[in-house]
Amino acid sequence: MAVDEAMVKSIVQEVIAKMNITETPSGKHGIFKDMNEAIEAAKKSEKIVRNMSLDQREKIISLIRQKIHETAEITARMAVDETGMGNVGHKIMKNHLVADGTPGTEDLKTIAWSGDRGLTLVEEGPFGVIGAITPCTNPQETVYCNTIGMLAAGNTVVFNPHPQAVKVTIYAINLMNECSLAAGGPDNIAVTVEKPTMETSAVMMNHPDIPLLVATGGPGVVKAVLSVGKRGIGAGAGNPPALVDETADIRKAAEDIVNGCTFDNNLPCIAEKEVVAVESIIDELMHYMINEQGCYLASDEVQKKLVSTVMDEKGRLNRKCVGRDAKTLLSMVGVQAPEGTRCIIFKGEKEHPLIATELMMPILGIVPAKDFDDALEKALWLEHGNRHSAHIHSHDVTRITRYARAMDTAILVKNGPSYAALGFGGEGFPTFTIASRTGEGLTSASTFTKKRRCVMVDSLCIR
Ligand code: NAD
Repeated sequence: MAVDEAMVKSIVQEVIAKMNITETPSGKHGIFKDMNEAIEAAKKSEKIVRNMSLDQREKIISLIRQKIHETAEITARMAVDETGMGNVGHKIMKNHLVADGTPGTEDLKTIAWSGDRGLTLVEEGPFGVIGAITPCTNPQETVYCNTIGMLAAGNTVVFNPHPQAVKVTIYAINLMNECSLAAGGPDNIAVTVEKPTMETSAVMMNHPDIPLLVATGGPGVVKAVLSVGKRGIGAGAGNPPALVDETADIRKAAEDIVNGCTFDNNLPCIAEKEVVAVESIIDELMHYMINEQGCYLASDEVQKKLVSTVMDEKGRLNRKCVGRDAKTLLSMVGVQAPEGTRCIIFKGEKEHPLIATELMMPILGIVPAKDFDDALEKALWLEHGNRHSAHIHSHDVTRITRYARAMDTAILVKNGPSYAALGFGGEGFPTFTIASRTGEGLTSASTFTKKRRCVMVDSLCIR
């Protein structure tokens, strides 16, 4: 997608200037100074949303979809500018994906039993006001897809976004409230505070009017949310391995893996973070990666420099490296890589710090394995029990089945790039909240509901 960088940048600067974030009047389209006020406003609007017809909710959601499309370039640029992470073109694609594919009210399901004793329905109804914590890696995409799903289910939502992505989150929340008002709905269907902190997060998590918490982020936030003592949905970290065996189409595996790994500079939690390849095909795989897919083969010396640049001695990531492209990462260690360099690769053991750690950078270590069994064991170790995502390139259905059972992940892509799991070139709906930890899997409107049984005794069965 061709993006005129200078033009988009000037539009974004104009938008940011107009937003005048530091002087945003408290309460304007979902933005509050105080978390308690924000929750109060979301509570008021929830009373209206709860009683809205499904048609009315859809009217708001379809306007939100349209406006996400119209502002896709602006928010993509804002997210990259503010967080310093990711790729504008790919973030535009993610915005369009969210707008088109996030399920709305059609996702709500009814179960019915009908017989001599009458008719019983189980309906999916709203929780009320939901508290959501969002990451800096997919900031506006998560806010959009959470809000669409939560609103479709009759809820409103209070966000505590990552402090590194406040401006773009405020933009997204303003936009959705403006859509609600324009479509005849209330203001404050989604709210947040001007300055989100751990304190505002604690107020939100412990507030008695918030019955459901949804955490999208690393292990710290998921643990925090699940410790509060109320219902929590935990969409946590991953470290997805891609296993390649000798039955795979090796050339295509190289292409799929590099495409998946480099998407949005490896920020998605589902993206290939390392490869485990059986020894008989590892050189062929790396040959295609280097000669056809723009991969740079890092020497031992470059690997060492990368380790000391992208993380500290305790293994904590250098945030200045997360979500950067391969050329930038290489320039940080003194390597001027050729144009078109997309990914940094090397052969290494699974314990290598650039392999065992979830980097969220286009650095792909390739672990050799004696055979499929050895590869499976190594992939299982590398996933660290997150049960998040794993990928495989193989034409042996028995092995694919064994791998899927052993990995036990929310997502498992076979013979394709990881982003096929989000609906890019694969079947199914997208989401940016994958509840790996608590088991809901890919979240949608139905996830944000309570089940209610309605029983009509002795009537309405006409069988
Ligand atoms: P992060 O964990 O640093 O932050 C995520 C959010 O949690 C932020 O809003 C942050 O302010 C908040 N937070 C962090 N610790 C907290 C605590 N103890 N109490 C309350 N709030 C806390 O993550 P990030 O860098 O923004 O995002 C990257 C991480 O998120 C990666 O590990 C990635 O795998 C994961 N992620 C998972 C999903 C998923 O759907 N499973 C989606 C996106 C990102």
